[in-house]
Amino acid sequence: MSTGKKFVPVHKNGKSEEPGGLFAKRLLIWNKNQNTRQMPWKGEKDPYKIWLSEIILQQTRVEQGLKYYENFIRTFPDVHALAKAPAEKVFKLWEGLGYYSRCRNLIITAKFISKDLKGNFPKDFESILQLKGVGNYTASAIASFAYNLPYAVLDGNVFRVLSRIFDIETPIDSTEGKKIFSTLAQTILPPKKAGEYNQAIMDFGAVICKPYPECKICFFSDQCKAYLKGKQDLLPVKEKKIKIRERWLNYLILKNKDQVLIHQRTSNDIWQQLFEFLLIETEKAFPSAHPFFFSSNRIKTKRNRTWFFMGKKLRTR
Ligand code: SF4
Repeated sequence: MSTGKKFVPVHKNGKSEEPGGLFAKRLLIWNKNQNTRQMPWKGEKDPYKIWLSEIILQQTRVEQGLKYYENFIRTFPDVHALAKAPAEKVFKLWEGLGYYSRCRNLIITAKFISKDLKGNFPKDFESILQLKGVGNYTASAIASFAYNLPYAVLDGNVFRVLSRIFDIETPIDSTEGKKIFSTLAQTILPPKKAGEYNQAIMDFGAVICKPYPECKICFFSDQCKAYLKGKQDLLPVKEKKIKIRERWLNYLILKNKDQVLIHQRTSNDIWQQLFEFLLIETEKAFPSAHPFFFSSNRIKTKRNRTWFFMGKKLRTR
């Protein structure tokens, strides 16, 4: 659908002569008539369920988070159930999702809401933002989805969509970029349809304006500044190079009949408070012929993201 109008570059001076109304309007029409993306928490109004889904989805793909969300809701249908559960049970359910600090914060926040707030989830943005493990994005998502409060979400999908539609080359991870994009996102947001709009722009970024965008079928292609200039693949711009660190974790398994020696991690590092075998961390891979070591886990850390490369299991005598 083309309206023949041009979008106003609202990022200049943080002001707009036309506050993104056209963009939001067309996006909402697409959302109503063509957006078929299904997720169990879509349209949900219960702040507990929205909060849970948002914490699970931090640093996690929707496809991966789905079954965790369903398991959590089935096991802990409300915040009191989650608050009362032993931490080991909650961690067990979280197993495999990674970023275990999220799980720790989940438990702390559930106890706080259940006990201190008597089960009443905070209803305003500032109070939601005070919850442990909740940042600007998550607070905006909860405030807009649960209460339709006018707070624009700004996640990777939204950065990508806005940078392309409005052709913004300022790096999204720079201080200036964050300011420009948050002003723009907030300016465009239709205040009365905040929840619907926030979900729509994230869905649009997930299914059409993807990292490899579907410009040929995109209803914004007649007005998308990046596409009209043929530079959609160059946006958004990032300033910082991702640092990758390699670590070698070698585990020593000490057994006594049916008992195995483990210890709890306490340092300020990955897997805090989780249990593991005795660890020897080395700069390089441990010599594979060593008789005491059965494997080496090679870990690459990319910001907060971790991949595991399991070493070969060695035969021991
Ligand atoms: S035309 Fe392409 S780059 Fe522009 S919004 Fe649509 S999918 Fe994204």
